[in-house]
Amino acid sequence: MAILQRSSTYKAEGVVLSRRDLGDADRIVTFFTREFGRRRLVARGCRRPTSQFAPHIELFSRVRLVGVVGANLDVLTQAQSLETYPRFRDDLTAFAAAGWAVELLDGLSEDGEAEPDAYSALTAFLSALNQRTADPEPLLSALALNLLDQHGYAPELWRCTVCGAAIQPGAHAFAPRTGGVVCSDCSHDNASHSLGIDTLKTLRFIAHDGLAGAARLRADPRTRAELRTALRAYATSVVERDISSAHILERAGAGSAPRPAPGA
Ligand SMILES: [Zn+2]
Repeated sequence: MAILQRSSTYKAEGVVLSRRDLGDADRIVTFFTREFGRRRLVARGCRRPTSQFAPHIELFSRVRLVGVVGANLDVLTQAQSLETYPRFRDDLTAFAAAGWAVELLDGLSEDGEAEPDAYSALTAFLSALNQRTADPEPLLSALALNLLDQHGYAPELWRCTVCGAAIQPGAHAFAPRTGGVVCSDCSHDNASHSLGIDTLKTLRFIAHDGLAGAARLRADPRTRAELRTALRAYATSVVERDISSAHILERAGAGSAPRPAPGA
């Protein structure tokens, strides 16, 4: 892994995880880069109408960038957007799913630690989510399971996480704090969520088949709601902070099926 020294200039490719205003005209942009993991860079003047950066550092864009290592924050000196995701601008469910994904990744990753597999998973997810006919929630579940697995937090989906018994379908629940499914005997004391048999099967399928499998799924409203609740609760317990985009997704996505693309 490359080590960056103070004042050295580096090139990287990254996804914009978040942006925050600084002073009158600047922004701190947090990128998840392929080469160096998460890095925070100051984009000077990027809130001025004449800024050359502004169109290239939209939230979730994939960007080729040049930065200079600073004492606390790096300085962005060049940015060229490589991929933008038009669906996220007008589809709140897709936007919230992208937000949920980057919040989870932000919570799991450390500054400056390269995670090329997580980077590939994130960019594949964003591209798939940008397809207007794609159902955001199975895709988000696939990305969440992948990222959790890469960080050593894959939820247990086959054996009770308390007593170890094999799960009998239908006599089970999901307990975020114990790290996965629980049998009905153990479900009472462990703040568990109900999880229908279809949702458990969907989770197992997605855990096995990943993003490609999830892209073929059309979850029914109940499965979608249970996936949302279980994964949000589990991710929140892993990263030890609330995922605010999950609430937006809940409001935007509750009961609604993805709309077909215009003209499709
Ligand atoms: Zn048990």
